[in-house]
Amino acid sequence: MDVHFLTSTRSLLLTALVLLLTTLTVSAQAPPTDPFEIRLKNRRFTPDPGASLSGFGEDPSRREHILLQFNTLPTPEDLAALEENGIRILNYVPNNAVVASVPADFAFDAYTSLRWAGRLVSSDKLSGLVMQRIQEADQQALTLVVEAFNDVGQGELANIVGRAGGEAQTHPSLPPYVQLVTGEADVFLRLAQEDAIAWMVPASDRLIQGDLVYSCPGPLTVYGSIAPFVAHDDGWDGPGMGSASLTYHFVNGTPDIAGSLEEIEVEKSFAEWATYVLLTFTETASAGLTTSLDILWGAGDHGDIFPFDGPGGVLAHAFFPAPPNPETIGGDMHFDEDETWSLTVDFHMFAVALHEAGHSLGLSHSDEPDAVMFAFYGGPLTGLHPDDIAGIRSIYATKTTGPVTRYVALPPMGSDAGNDCTIPATPCATIAHAVSEASSGDTLSIEADTYEEPPSAITKALFFVVTGVGGVIIE
Ligand SMILES: [Zn+2]
Ligand SMILES: [Zn+2]
Repeated sequence: MDVHFLTSTRSLLLTALVLLLTTLTVSAQAPPTDPFEIRLKNRRFTPDPGASLSGFGEDPSRREHILLQFNTLPTPEDLAALEENGIRILNYVPNNAVVASVPADFAFDAYTSLRWAGRLVSSDKLSGLVMQRIQEADQQALTLVVEAFNDVGQGELANIVGRAGGEAQTHPSLPPYVQLVTGEADVFLRLAQEDAIAWMVPASDRLIQGDLVYSCPGPLTVYGSIAPFVAHDDGWDGPGMGSASLTYHFVNGTPDIAGSLEEIEVEKSFAEWATYVLLTFTETASAGLTTSLDILWGAGDHGDIFPFDGPGGVLAHAFFPAPPNPETIGGDMHFDEDETWSLTVDFHMFAVALHEAGHSLGLSHSDEPDAVMFAFYGGPLTGLHPDDIAGIRSIYATKTTGPVTRYVALPPMGSDAGNDCTIPATPCATIAHAVSEASSGDTLSIEADTYEEPPSAITKALFFVVTGVGGVIIE
């Protein structure tokens, strides 16, 4: 088929379609979630009400990291009541629970908001891939990322690692509560029994080589960031694997990238996820809608409880869907304007957007070092890893019919003779609109904004081919 672009009549039809989609939004066909299920990567369980803390408080000088589950989603008052008594709230854990560092005089019965208190077990702290590597190691040394709870200091973590017989590698850019540790399997089994240790995953080559890395704080909720051992969220479709139609809105852009090409990079990241599962994304002119992702670039304090940290460190963050987040912050994506954003090199707009969009859709971090959803940014990317695809297909329905899209960068316009790319007379408003208008087998082209600098990028364009599943994807 030929290239199709919107005429004004088609724009009207499309507007009607968009309105329809924004009112229909999500579909779910699955049993309701157990509201008190604790959802860890390695264990899902619904605790009996009460405190399950045998031997707690025997050493009056010792704090402990425990899980506290509330009767309902905690209110700011519930959290403040705990914090007033020296309890540090560190992370959110679905459903209705937090990780807390509690002093020995913690009294469960003093808080009517609490339903349950209990401990993690050591097997909660070792990722599936780590367990596999431990079994295969046969006395060979492993190098893992060892993550303590985020109130544990660098010196304290180093002492714990040393006591367990591990060798800590100095790394220039890990947060103080994360260390690269080399040791035999039993070192990590000992570390998993330590109260201060939260989670362990294999190290990426980039980490082992000592290259600069940037760590993502994990998906956010208004109750805190999600603990590293927490399973994927149900996604916007609720329990089971359904579909979702989401909208998105650009609150602003970044001056680092000319024109509005940063928006196209974010749209490409949405399309990459939507290649594999039943998700649609439609741009909207309004901020603050439900089932809608508000996207912004901000520096330092930018309006939520998670201020950015200046150049380096955290590059971006994104909020888990609603619930557990309240609307309308669920799914929102924020990029640190103190970073320098780029289409081609660090910090690669598409790579970071692809990772954060995964969180906006409900994915937590992967333990696969080469996955997009690994917690540490590893440089420019072109698309998802099989582990990411398996992850998104565990929460949304696999796309088996309809168009599959794949984006590739094209050589400058004019030198692309030999493929079907043409400059449209009437461009679609967004890439998502063009995709929604396309049929299987269509070949579409999109002309990006033209701009002054750099000259080599003046005619940068994006090209994508729509095929049926199993059809040829041109790269
Ligand atoms: Zn992340
Ligand atoms: Zn933010």
